[in-house]
Parts: sequence; C-alpha cells; structure tokens
Amino acid sequence: MDKKIEKQLREKLETEKKRLTKDLSAFAKKDPKMKRNWITRFPFLGMNRLHSDESADEVEEYENLLPVEYVLENRLKDIEDALDKVKKGIYGKCELCGKEIEQKRLMVAPEAKTCLRHIKKD
Ligand SMILES: [Zn+2]
Repeated sequence: MDKKIEKQLREKLETEKKRLTKDLSAFAKKDPKMKRNWITRFPFLGMNRLHSDESADEVEEYENLLPVEYVLENRLKDIEDALDKVKKGIYGKCELCGKEIEQKRLMVAPEAKTCLRHIKKD
C-alpha cells in the first residue's frame, strides 16, 4: 500500500479511536480484567431501592445503554485491530483471501477486515 495513503488511513483510525473512547467513557468504564472490554456503569443503584420508580428508570436507562455499549465497543475493537496491523506492517490485507483490500473501501471504512469481494455474498 502507498505509504501516504496508509498514513492517512492510520490518522483516520486514531481519530475514530479517540472519539469512540470518549463516547464510551461517558457511560462505561474499561474492564480491568479483560483487555478491550468495557462495562456499562451502573453506579446509582442500591439494591434496597430496587422497587422505587426512580430505580426502575435507572434500570431502563441501563438496559438502553447496553446495546449502544456493545456496538461502540465492537467498533473500537475493530479499529484497534486495524491499528495493530499497521504496526505489524500487514494493514490492508483481506483476512479471507489475503489480497489487498480496495482503497475506496478503506477510505470509507479504514477498519475493514475483508475486501469487497466477500461482502456481496454475505
Ligand atoms: Zn478478500
């Protein structure tokens, strides 16, 4: 891959990583036990208040945030994987066929793991 383009894509990845980390930090914290795992914070609930209306709202809010956390966390993982590949010098290779991923695809999704050939079949 062209070094200039790789640099550009790496910068995109770094920016996205920062943004996602910031978004996640607003309501989740890093799991100290599992690398790259995030835990949605649930600091407000005392078990003795479980049946009050206020707590019901908190439970609902928590449940609403879980899928958001899941999506952000997985995207962040993909981005960190891509940055690892940049470091190892194997960035931009398709994980399924080993060919170079199309540049136009990487421009839209720099964290892509596979080339466009496989997408249409999925
Ligand atoms: Zn491929």
